[in-house]
Amino acid sequence: VIIDCHNHVLATALPPGHERFIREMRAVGLRRTGVLPDDRAPTEPDWAALGDVAAPVDPDVLIADHRAAGVDVSVVLAVAPSEDTSYGQRGTVDLAGVTGLPGPPSIDRSNDYVAALCRAHPELRGMAAVNPRYRGVGAALAEVERAVGELGLTGLKLYPMYDGYAVDDPQLALPVFALARDLGIGVMVHMGTTPARDAPLELGHPLAVDVVARQLPGLRVLICHAGWPWVDEALAVAARHDDVYLDLSYAQAMLSRRELADLLERAPRVGCPRSRLCWGSDYPGGGRPQTLLPQIATALEEEGGEPLAPRELARLLGGNWARFAGLPWDEATALDTVAERLPAWRAAAAS
Ligand SMILES: [Zn+2]
Repeated sequence: VIIDCHNHVLATALPPGHERFIREMRAVGLRRTGVLPDDRAPTEPDWAALGDVAAPVDPDVLIADHRAAGVDVSVVLAVAPSEDTSYGQRGTVDLAGVTGLPGPPSIDRSNDYVAALCRAHPELRGMAAVNPRYRGVGAALAEVERAVGELGLTGLKLYPMYDGYAVDDPQLALPVFALARDLGIGVMVHMGTTPARDAPLELGHPLAVDVVARQLPGLRVLICHAGWPWVDEALAVAARHDDVYLDLSYAQAMLSRRELADLLERAPRVGCPRSRLCWGSDYPGGGRPQTLLPQIATALEEEGGEPLAPRELARLLGGNWARFAGLPWDEATALDTVAERLPAWRAAAAS
């Protein structure tokens, strides 16, 4: 089973703040590729020419894009609810009504929307999200219990820098991590930068994950985006703690193929074994799996390095995340799948 461990689905906030948030998230990539001007702020006509960039992500399109790329399972991450942001109310909301849940869209049901999608689509796995600054730590803890125990979600995603708290905050964050450890679930944490300019950059530094890992041994925590641009710092944290994982989502979009190959080569050399690296796309903002999957599968060989062993590749593309999440994963089947799809990935990477 090939797993893309980092995807976003539906809308991530309620209008009107949603549009500004998505525009800021997309502007970096659109400038880099020359679609938006890089010498002035984009104007309304510039944005209008691109169509509705803030349109909700349709789960059927997400699944079709992943199936076409050879991905079997997509992990969809809820966005934690927050209301005191400059973007208005953030959180996963079903604006288009595709989940079939009754009532007007509400950030209070972020985890319900994601769980509903997972019930309807066996290709999806869901991670709940909570924000201890939304209605207090007690409410966040109760929501974790509900999301995992009643909704059947697999684990947790936290967004400290978007929600305005430090990942090692003893009052706000550590109780959530402690509960996750007690429940035996893994916690993915947004780390690194974000183009959303109102999120404080200093709250994204992965060094603070070291505090969490030292205080809560046995907790499985995953540093999203490999902490980019602080990738070496994230690797240093993972090298100190056997239960700290990294995902390569968004980082892959920010790195050249040479830098990506360097990262795969460097991780085990500095003490973070490749068995703790997980592939993810950060769909839709981080790129399309049709491009990213062939690129990661062949990065080392394309750069003249020693290719990943089939077992390492199969684990990078699913097994490592399954271990992080506490899910079963059949290595023999995954090795067959990788062997079957690798020729297509090689052809796609070379073209
Ligand atoms: Zn993401």
